[in-house]
Amino acid sequence: MQQLIFATNNLHKTEEVRAITAGLPYHIITLKEAGIEIDIPEPHDTLEENASEKSNVIYRLTQKNCFSEDTGLEVEALNGEPGVKSARYAGDERIFDKNIEKLLKNLKGHSNRKARFRAVVSLILEGKEYQFEGICNGIIAEAPQGSSGFGYDPVFIPDGDTRCFAEMTLAEKNQYNHRRKAIDGMLQFLKQRHIL
Ligand code: IMP
Repeated sequence: MQQLIFATNNLHKTEEVRAITAGLPYHIITLKEAGIEIDIPEPHDTLEENASEKSNVIYRLTQKNCFSEDTGLEVEALNGEPGVKSARYAGDERIFDKNIEKLLKNLKGHSNRKARFRAVVSLILEGKEYQFEGICNGIIAEAPQGSSGFGYDPVFIPDGDTRCFAEMTLAEKNQYNHRRKAIDGMLQFLKQRHIL
């Protein structure tokens, strides 16, 4: 079975992606499993550049096929914020609860709660890069609900549901998941190339 390194240290993302790729002839391995200990930088102003940076760093280190993913929560009433800065919205400590607190504070009094998650996957296959996008539209809840998942899951309600991501099982979240949609694009591409 072929191996594909997922260039992330986020175990929630790994769990989601493993559920999506279960049963495929590809074994997704984490950075830790590949013996790589690195905090990959995300220094750029776009998700596309950050995703590219992450996969290229890992490809340079390993010379192996790999992919990375970068996601931002884009809130309409906040002109697309926190966007590419989603992880560090309330500070460099990257604390989920503080990010949520800041988001709810900044949205206070706004009737427009529309938001979307946008994920960009960067795949490096035999040294060449390909990108795939996944979007999940929804709204920001008035208060946090649920305890599953990570990040902004307790305040994000996807269109088509009444529950926050944090109130769903992994399989339920993956029906709407931006990351799942971007990964599906990558899997489709691999299938077209007869790599899957
Ligand atoms: P990253 O830079 O792609 O790792 O993600 C940026 C931030 O977006 C994370 O720290 C989370 O706060 C948030 N995020 C990314 N994906 C999700 C998700 O599926 N649910 C909730 N928050 C997410």
